[in-house]
Amino acid sequence: MQKRQLRIVKAQHTGFCFGVKRAIKIAEDILKKNKKSCSIGSIIHNPAVVKDLSKRGLRVISDIKDAKGSCLVIRSHGISPRIRQEAKRLSIRMVDATCPFVKRSHDIVTSLKAEGYFIVIAGENNHPEVKALAEAAKGSCVIAAKILDLKKPEIKRRKKIAVVAQTTLSHAEFFKIVSSVLQENSHEYRVFDTICNDVTQRQSEAGLLAKKVDVILVVGGKNSANTKRLCRICKEAGARTYHIEDDREIKHIWFRGKRSVGIVSGASTPQEIVERVVKRLKK
Ligand code: SF4
Repeated sequence: MQKRQLRIVKAQHTGFCFGVKRAIKIAEDILKKNKKSCSIGSIIHNPAVVKDLSKRGLRVISDIKDAKGSCLVIRSHGISPRIRQEAKRLSIRMVDATCPFVKRSHDIVTSLKAEGYFIVIAGENNHPEVKALAEAAKGSCVIAAKILDLKKPEIKRRKKIAVVAQTTLSHAEFFKIVSSVLQENSHEYRVFDTICNDVTQRQSEAGLLAKKVDVILVVGGKNSANTKRLCRICKEAGARTYHIEDDREIKHIWFRGKRSVGIVSGASTPQEIVERVVKRLKK
């Protein structure tokens, strides 16, 4: 009996996004010149890449004091103004690998705060990018992952409210938060769509692909917010979805009786890992 071939469809947008590519290049350039380098938290959310950089000398630290004597490479998600100031005080050399789109969100939040706005940050509480934005807002903000978070008393009776988004949020989630904020009894509102275009493209491609195939493999760090969001989108679109970090996690049983598989990847997933997944599927 002839074996049925599994149709493999790879999304167009895979591999590193611009901001991640840039951050890795900055880190690699520093490593070439200076072995003593570190980042506060992972430079990007992909364990394989972080492990590789750490073998080459980039330490991951959690306390800025541990950066003394090293060059601090600021991660793609950015750091808070407080940590930046502390690094300056300790005379720690810094090289900024913050993604320019994340930097734009920081600048927006800083000027909104100066103009007296109360800021709603639509995003995840524990995400480093969001935490840094909240610190830039100096307490004049609320982080809202869902509409329920807007029920907090701090948001009531604010005269001026502004909304910004975590760069990796989906527009659907963002619009829900925005429409809920607009129901507050405020005098003035400002809304900044700070969602990254690369992320939006990956999300819409994932949603469409998930409707056309039986199984979807979402390739990326288990700690990556944008990869986890791709999983959610694929599941909501009805595809059987598996989140993997590399080809070694693939199981035969996932494809039994299936005709097609789609592959999408998070913004911090190296293209080589995506290609290894394709190769393994072909085998
Ligand atoms: S996903 Fe977008 S915002 Fe995040 S690092 Fe990549 S380019 Fe920058």
